[in-house]
Amino acid sequence: MEFSSKLLQEAVEQVSFLPGIGKRTALRLVLHLLNQDQEVTTDLAKSLLDLKLKIKRCKNCHNISDSEICDICANPKRDQSIVCVVEDIRDIMAIENTEQYRGVYHVLNGKINPIEGIGPNDLTIESLTQKAKEGQINEIIFALSSTMEGDTTNFYIYKQIENFDIKMSTIARGISVGDELEFADEVTLGRSIVHRIPFEKSLKA
Ligand SMILES: [Zn+2]
Repeated sequence: MEFSSKLLQEAVEQVSFLPGIGKRTALRLVLHLLNQDQEVTTDLAKSLLDLKLKIKRCKNCHNISDSEICDICANPKRDQSIVCVVEDIRDIMAIENTEQYRGVYHVLNGKINPIEGIGPNDLTIESLTQKAKEGQINEIIFALSSTMEGDTTNFYIYKQIENFDIKMSTIARGISVGDELEFADEVTLGRSIVHRIPFEKSLKA
């Protein structure tokens, strides 16, 4: 792509760095911004910078938050003894949309994936086992996507925690194998949390 301006080229390259955005789309977005009032670009730049500089990870569940403890963990109406284990914050958003769940979460920040070099220590499993050890948890609900990586991660955590007398369950698979939670419809996802099944039973299936 030939550019008449170095500044234009630089902006297009920065935008096309985003996932799913090719050079042509980047050019369209940049030209769109160029035609707006300066305020639009200033607000956009500021919100992105604020996001990066000010956002925190909840100390309890690793959810993305504006404060040290996220709104879900800080809510006295939530049952702190039930912990739903999810891959990332998009899963929390999907489950919260169902309005069927009153426990709290634990965000792993990924799944165990040997091919991509992601091991248990790259995730937040240690802080989950710590909470389990301290006796804060009565039930853990696994809500990872039903892929090989998801199953491996569930099983790894199950092995870490099986001696702590904690009920472990997995969301019922109304969601078909391999589906990501965030794409499941709210009714299906809500049902699969309500009708969760004991984890050990899912192993035998
Ligand atoms: Zn939290």
